[in-house]
Amino acid sequence: MELIFPHWPMWIVCRKEDGKIIMRVGVLALQGAFIEHEKTLKNLGCETIQVRKREHLENIDGLIIPGGESTTIGKLMNDFNLTGPIKELAEKGLPIFGTCAGLIIMAKEITNSSQPCLGMMNISVHRNAFGRQVDSFETDLHIEGLGQEPFRAVFIRAPYIETVNEGVEVLATVDEKIVFAREKNFMAAAFHPELTDDTRVHELFLNCCKTFHNLR
Ligand code: GLN
Repeated sequence: MELIFPHWPMWIVCRKEDGKIIMRVGVLALQGAFIEHEKTLKNLGCETIQVRKREHLENIDGLIIPGGESTTIGKLMNDFNLTGPIKELAEKGLPIFGTCAGLIIMAKEITNSSQPCLGMMNISVHRNAFGRQVDSFETDLHIEGLGQEPFRAVFIRAPYIETVNEGVEVLATVDEKIVFAREKNFMAAAFHPELTDDTRVHELFLNCCKTFHNLR
């Protein structure tokens, strides 16, 4: 999957020539900041669906796992029988983007916790790695593939990626700590792009969704 910016304009990505919306992105809506992701996606012109049941995963071009509390989200994913179906779709190439708690849930290894997760992405992560809630912060990030302009990133009791293994590309770091990476159809960020007006990270993801849409 290509990671390029500048990319296709969003009106081409999300719509057909007659203006009909064709992109449909699921947002896991069990707990956390799912509404904010939906707003950003809608502003970019795509249709969204809140995912709480298996059938909500049908005919989606991508899935976002939001920030929140990863222990709660992981447990609810099991309770709602979503863990297996999401893993199956991931294997078929569905683009999945995890932010903050979502990143933790996607990782193959969580170094300081044994909690339910998807265990899909070839990274090991450390929870609450920048400290406690009061240690939350904002910073300007240089993100690989997003051009020269820095991305204002919000970190809330964030994890970071301790190790990236084979096939994983690092997209951004803070003080040499990895906070944004991608691998095949997976993207994971330790920050909250849905909490700022800068839509470039979501656009990057939608470009992956478009590629998947055209293939399926
Ligand atoms: N600290 C949370 C966790 O470990 C993540 C915080 C967030 O998503 N903003 O799940």
